Parts: sequence; structure tokens; C-alpha cells
Amino acid sequence: MVQITSICRLTVLTGPSGVGKGTLVRLLLKRYEEIWMSVSATTRLPREGEKDGEDYFFLTRDRFVELIQDQGFLEWAEFAGNSYGTLSRPVHQKLSEGRPVLLEIELEGARQVRKNFPEALLIFIAPPTFEELESRIRGRATDTEQAIQSRLARAREELMAKDEFDVVVINDDIQVALMELERNMGLTFRKDE
Ligand code: 5GP
Repeated sequence: MVQITSICRLTVLTGPSGVGKGTLVRLLLKRYEEIWMSVSATTRLPREGEKDGEDYFFLTRDRFVELIQDQGFLEWAEFAGNSYGTLSRPVHQKLSEGRPVLLEIELEGARQVRKNFPEALLIFIAPPTFEELESRIRGRATDTEQAIQSRLARAREELMAKDEFDVVVINDDIQVALMELERNMGLTFRKDE
């Protein structure tokens, strides 16, 4: 059985697309059963293999706007021509149950969380170099050139804002980055003998 100790309850992971946030999140969730990862809503279309309700809640723009008007989002932002938002209710629910909650969101959303939850831990995941990031983004063949350009432009902006975060973790070696995340989130891992 895996045991967990977590000092901070709400952790935000932000970083340019292609930096490896998804992989780090998967590894964290595997090691720490208690962590609850928020499933965001988005107006973007599913990529191949993505499942509604698991990777995202894929919504129409009308439904997304309705949720904004109903104060359904903890934060939301536009990114590369689509809207993304964290649903408020489940996050509050899990925090009230005492579970550590993880959000994987972009910069504008992280800024909103900082304003609304000053006690949240904001972690920025950075690439070793910008060139490395560009090759990772281009390696994901699912995006159009226009989408790639838009993601690269946003990546530059996000990297300039990294000092606004409590912690910057450089994702060069994934295992080292994971250890850094665990340390900063106050997670301790051990398997019972
Ligand atoms: P992707 O389209 O690659 O899945 O995500 C694009 C960007 O949207 C990523 O930087 C991701 O962190 C961000 N994102 C995903 N969900 C949310 C959310 O709920 N709110 C905000 N603000 N950004 C999000």
C-alpha cells in the first residue's frame, strides 16, 4: 500500500505545451493514490485517443459560455484559439474532503488561482532549452502549422513569466523532475513491506 503525506492541498502545474507536464502528472498519480487531478473543460476537439470525461470534458462553445455565466469555473482562459477551464465544484469538494488536488493549467489560469487561492502552490515546469521544446512540440504530429506557431508563441510568453511561480522545475531528466515535484509538494513515498 502506498502512503502519502502532503502539506499543500492545492497544487498548480504550469508550463509550455510539450514540456512533459502530462507525463509528470501520470507518474505522480500512479505513485500517490490520494492525489485528485482535476479534469478540465475545453472547447478544443479531442485528439486521437482522448476520452470525454477522462482527458477533458469536451464542450461546445455555447456550453462553455453558459458555465462562465453560471460561475462554474474556478478559472478559465483562452489558449491557441480554444477555451479551457477548471470546474469549480469538484475542486472544492475534493479539497473539503482533505485530498491533495492537482491542476494542470496554463499561465492565465495559474494567475487567477494565485489571486483566488493565495495558499496554493504554483509550480512552473520549464524545458532545458527552447530548441528542445520546439522539437518536442513539432514531434506531436497532431497539430496544424498554425496551431504549432500559436503554441510556440505562447510558450515564449509563458517562459518569461516563470519567476511569478513559487517553484521552477526543469524537465530535462523526468525522474529528477519528478523528485523535485514530490519534494516541493511535500509528498513522501514509501511502500509498506
Ligand atoms: P492542450 O490543448 O495541449 O491539451 O492544452 C493546452 C494548454 O491548456 C496547456 O497549457 C494546458 O495546461 C492548458 N489547460 C488545460 N486545462 C486547462 C484549464 O482548465 N484551465 C487553463 N487555464 N488551462 C488549461
